[in-house]
Amino acid sequence: MDLTFSGALEIAGLIKNKEITSVEAVEAFLARIDAVEPDVHSYINVSADIARERAAAIDSRLSAGDDAGAFAGVPLAIKDVLSTRGFPTTCGSRMLEGFVPAYDATVVERVNDAGTVMLGKANMDEFAMGSSTENSYFGPTRNPWDLERVPGGSSGGSAAAVAAGEAPWALGSDTGGSIRQPAALCGIVGLKPTYGLVSRYGLVAFASSLDQVGPMTRSVGDCAALLGLIAGHDPCDSTSIDEPAPDYLTGLDGEVKGMKAGIVKELSSDGIEPGVLERFNATVKALEGLGVSCEEVSLPSFEYGLSAYYLIAPAEASSNLARFDGVRYGYRTDLESDDIWEMYDETRAAGFGGEVKRRIMLGTYALSAGYYDAYYAQAQKIRTLIVRDYGRAWDSFDVLVSPTSPSTAFKLGEKMDDPLTMYLSDICTIPVNLAGIPALSLPCGLAEGLPVGFQVMGPPLSEAKIMNVAYALEGVLGFEPRPPLD
Ligand code: GLN
Repeated sequence: MDLTFSGALEIAGLIKNKEITSVEAVEAFLARIDAVEPDVHSYINVSADIARERAAAIDSRLSAGDDAGAFAGVPLAIKDVLSTRGFPTTCGSRMLEGFVPAYDATVVERVNDAGTVMLGKANMDEFAMGSSTENSYFGPTRNPWDLERVPGGSSGGSAAAVAAGEAPWALGSDTGGSIRQPAALCGIVGLKPTYGLVSRYGLVAFASSLDQVGPMTRSVGDCAALLGLIAGHDPCDSTSIDEPAPDYLTGLDGEVKGMKAGIVKELSSDGIEPGVLERFNATVKALEGLGVSCEEVSLPSFEYGLSAYYLIAPAEASSNLARFDGVRYGYRTDLESDDIWEMYDETRAAGFGGEVKRRIMLGTYALSAGYYDAYYAQAQKIRTLIVRDYGRAWDSFDVLVSPTSPSTAFKLGEKMDDPLTMYLSDICTIPVNLAGIPALSLPCGLAEGLPVGFQVMGPPLSEAKIMNVAYALEGVLGFEPRPPLD
């Protein structure tokens, strides 16, 4: 059996039934990491020794008959935007090189409490800004399906790790598509939860009104399981919803007959690659075959979603990133400075990469006195219109569907000199974040040998429903993505 391409639930079962030990599971993934990392580069830091020690400790607890958690001994990758106590957290930036947090993010604490074993911190675009993972200070990640291509971003390291068998599952973050778009490009499942469902305590903030942490997995079942571990109220995050999270796993029964799905016209026609559209239409047919009625719906404000996002997200980022000043965290310039202002300038000039600086400048401009009304305030109005478009759609539809990304994985370097083209990669994922709703990307086949993602969106807190739609589809599509890496 090839453990590295087994799902997390399966591995948990094998460990529980004493068919394998946690040490064996961890060693299998570390061996796979050794074999493919030189090509793929999914991780910024691999925590091999810590993982081995923790796995051995869990094995001893299990042999002593202790309850070591529902996922005792199951390996996991964590995006390097989440704070891990005692282990470097870089956010893909020189600014945080060498930064070792003093505390765990709440989601990290929860997956630890469930007994999972962190294999390492996954690569990402610097401060989660990007759609290709090329903006990492530590070098790009490559797509396991074609090493000349990007894995998507910003959670490209998490997606590539899961796709390449370097982790059974991973945590990512999604501000404008950063879980779903790389999941689509690497052929895995990714879910962006409802705003407030998952704690952001210890998630390095990018755009606080949009950021969410979520699961990236090889199957919908694993996605439900990982969401179940991380969802639920956290007093440390003031935006956290104060309600218990349901048991997502038992809700997966594939019963979708009689449901209504809206095909979002604005996200599934113009600008979508023909190969993607072909797989999307075939998946809609499969959904109809499951007894779901599918009908096109127009959500007219979506046309302005991208423009609104690329004002709101940079505006919030320009404020959030003000804290990186060479005093409290990570990097500080070695240059002689005459005063503290010069030290700030030199630190930020050398510590941040080009895309982060572009966002800080865009955001500062959009918030400045003379332009606030023309840019930031307008963008917020569009955001309200998008929320209303969705609201109207839920009167007629249970879920909405679209492709996750307008294209399959593109070549490294292809969009690096043209930020606007890069931003267009997010056209299908961004409205979801602006409205705070949940959405999932399901692998739905290949177009010219590259994975295509099918996006299922639902009203706030409808995670159980959208995962059930994806689960039913996963069953009939019978697509078991495995990249031709070996
Ligand atoms: N690609 C988008 C951006 O660069 C989304 C990033 C994200 O979701 N973190 O802003």
